[in-house]
Amino acid sequence: MADGASRAGAEPLLSVRDLRKHYPITEGLLSREVGSTKAVDGVSFDVYPGETLGLVGESGCGKSTVAKSIVRLEEPTGGEVRFNGASRGETGAGGGDGPHPNDVTRFDRAELKSFRRDVQMVFQDPTSSFDPRMTVGSSVAEMLLVHGMTDGETRRAIVEDLLERVGLSASDYDRYPHEFSGGQKQRIALARALVLNPELVIADEPVSALDVSVQAKVLSLIDELQSAFGLSLLFISHDMSVIRRICDRVAVMYLGEIVEVGPVADVFADPQHPYTEALLSAVPRPDPRADPDRIELTGTVPDPADPPSGCRFHTRCHRVVQPEGVDVEQSAWRRVLDFRERLRDGDLEVDAGAADRTAASGGPSAAGVRAEFDLPERLGDERAERALEAAIERLVAGDEAAAIERLSEVFRTPCETTVPEWTDHGGGHGSACIRHRSAELSDDLEGIETD
Ligand code: ADP
Repeated sequence: MADGASRAGAEPLLSVRDLRKHYPITEGLLSREVGSTKAVDGVSFDVYPGETLGLVGESGCGKSTVAKSIVRLEEPTGGEVRFNGASRGETGAGGGDGPHPNDVTRFDRAELKSFRRDVQMVFQDPTSSFDPRMTVGSSVAEMLLVHGMTDGETRRAIVEDLLERVGLSASDYDRYPHEFSGGQKQRIALARALVLNPELVIADEPVSALDVSVQAKVLSLIDELQSAFGLSLLFISHDMSVIRRICDRVAVMYLGEIVEVGPVADVFADPQHPYTEALLSAVPRPDPRADPDRIELTGTVPDPADPPSGCRFHTRCHRVVQPEGVDVEQSAWRRVLDFRERLRDGDLEVDAGAADRTAASGGPSAAGVRAEFDLPERLGDERAERALEAAIERLVAGDEAAAIERLSEVFRTPCETTVPEWTDHGGGHGSACIRHRSAELSDDLEGIETD
């Protein structure tokens, strides 16, 4: 973790702009392209010298693909990755005067080789990162050899020194990977990442495979090494508590997009995007009873081949907006929208489920449907209640299409039709949620009325 002042006025070391990685989905013998998985879909952020930027989000939201696209282990589909490292230009690599100087996505082989010396990766699984037949010392020293250091004695001295700096001993040089624990292997992986003196390290879930007690030690080591080596870090994790421990700023990712960015202190104290709120709410507390308002992030991440329209989070959002003139208790609103979604998806076994709850008639009843889908007995809003009642009636009568139609008259949300714009909350904190825009608009209107 760096002190925030180091960023003031500084040029970013890494600038990612509108980065996209779409994986084609093919079908049949001729591999006809029938769609694409939008793993990363227009991501932008900066990493400043000496800072640790966290990239956080649930599994499958595209974090690893961002990392791999930056270093071109995966070729990006579009966008720009600008690297402004100190050695750019010195070697000629990537520092050219062309139309896109420093754009990694356009680097040729030589430029890429030089870039990959300055930017190193550490992966989640420390076991598969090492060749079991090579001593760990040779694995680390190999990096020096590949980049032109031919003197074996110097190589060994550098590696021995680094092994000590990551908390192992020089004599570990000649031992094999299987002789080390997971935490020790991750220390060796850090030594290997640092041996070429890089400017940026991209660590992809570096402590997720380790026991909690070991995690804390490796995180402390990363912190120490960052100060000692003046490193910048892009730190990927699904775990908000790890992010809080190690990062200066955090970018929150959902389904291929960034939904919130800001200094860790601000984002944790005052999250602006409901997705961030939900992730924070999932952080374990010593006493879970102390947090009765825990937000449950229901459902799984939607398929990035077919992301929801408007705000991609609207299918799971606890703050999903109600249209003008509708005023339903918010958690009931969420549940009716879920019910509508399941009806649309044809994912309702209303007969089987609801019938169990109707003793008298033996067939499904309105009350049975409400109980089955966790809908309130009555909604407070008259118009909404009438629409729900009518829809359930149609459903019970076996006419799903009419039920969907009745529900859709009232149970619509602007979140599914409006793509949220980015809102700046000041101090480098921003997020993309339509609630901010409507709040801004109503503030403006109030201003006009009182003037
Ligand atoms: P995260 O790191 O956040 O867990 P990933 O970047 O690994 O997410 O994956 C993002 C999405 O892209 C997922 O839906 C995943 O299945 C998909 N994906 C990742 N790699 C590939 C690939 N090589 N081919 C097709 N789809 C992929």
